[in-house]
Amino acid sequence: MSSSASAPLAYRVLPSDHARSPEQRTAILSGDLGFGRTFTDHMVSIQWDKAQGWHDARVHAYGPLSLDPAAAVLHYGQEIFEGIKAYRHADGSIWTFRPEANGERLQRSAARLTLPQLPVAEFVESLRQLIAVDHAWVPSAPESSLYFRPFMIATEAFLGVRPAQAAGYHVIASPAGAYFHGGVKPVSIWLSEDYARAAKGGTGAAKCGGNYAASLLPQQEAHANGCSQVLFLDPVEGKYLEELGGMNVFLVYRDGRLVTPALSGSILEGITRSSILQLARDRGMAVEERQVAIDEWKAGVASGDITEVFACGTAAVVTPIGQLKGKGFSVGDLNAPAGEVTMAIRKELTDIQYGRAPDRHGWLVRLY
Ligand SMILES: *Cc1c(COP(=O)(O)O)cnc(C)c1O
Repeated sequence: MSSSASAPLAYRVLPSDHARSPEQRTAILSGDLGFGRTFTDHMVSIQWDKAQGWHDARVHAYGPLSLDPAAAVLHYGQEIFEGIKAYRHADGSIWTFRPEANGERLQRSAARLTLPQLPVAEFVESLRQLIAVDHAWVPSAPESSLYFRPFMIATEAFLGVRPAQAAGYHVIASPAGAYFHGGVKPVSIWLSEDYARAAKGGTGAAKCGGNYAASLLPQQEAHANGCSQVLFLDPVEGKYLEELGGMNVFLVYRDGRLVTPALSGSILEGITRSSILQLARDRGMAVEERQVAIDEWKAGVASGDITEVFACGTAAVVTPIGQLKGKGFSVGDLNAPAGEVTMAIRKELTDIQYGRAPDRHGWLVRLY
């Protein structure tokens, strides 16, 4: 049995003996969920090793992992993850959005971090298996969802530096409320000039925990300067926009163009980003993926050529950026209302995800 064997993995389903009661679950789902603090009763685990390939697929009670203290992930950071949501439609059915794209990205991240390739069909199946037991945890309040966090870690107990020969893949899930309470509000972002998120030739295009570890100090600097997010520039010249710590960025021009930084090798290719590019083309907007100098942003906002800026990612969907601040400068107005194009794109995307608009690109996959 190798990891390329095409027979689907057989799951064992081991129901939790301490699952929350329907009353407890309802109380949790009707409270303030926030993001990533509450988890469902079960999780998925699949093991991999060099000799057997993928094996031992289980749905089991959510709970602590048991790891050898020499496990490679704890020493050399061999970890990758994904973020994808389940949406409850008005008829009660449960859907997810472009899961094959996440499965393919997990494979690209795995290749960069020398972790094993989980077949894309098994990635999608892992979400389905978890929903089969935890479907009642998908909330139904407006703009709420169940956020899946699939991740893979190197588990081999060996301190030598080489690709691990054993790994674990897991999926946990967290019910999430509307990201913005009381309506979408523009945020302020901080331009990081002293730190980069990723290096040329580094792991910026892989969705790995290490990139986030590197972003926390600049994120702290952003908070200290009254901003909620940090913006990174290219790591070579420190001149061109890359992205935020966990979201891609778009600029809307007065003449109707939509511009986003081209994939540079150090930018994470967001599925929200590529979906927005498609929706904008569908609307007949001129779309540009190219280098965008930070000076173009500053001058464009000052002159009025750039009318809106927004960030995007699965968790918050589309977040208007009201203000950009950095050492000794500030552009934009945090109190101005969110832009029209930003809000129209946000609505169009969420309408598709929640089944309120036709899924003309076949992006939705039914899970339950
Ligand atoms: C996950 C992520 C994004 C957004 O990707 P989506 O697929 O749209 O959720 C953007 N930047 C980084 C660094 C990320 O990790």
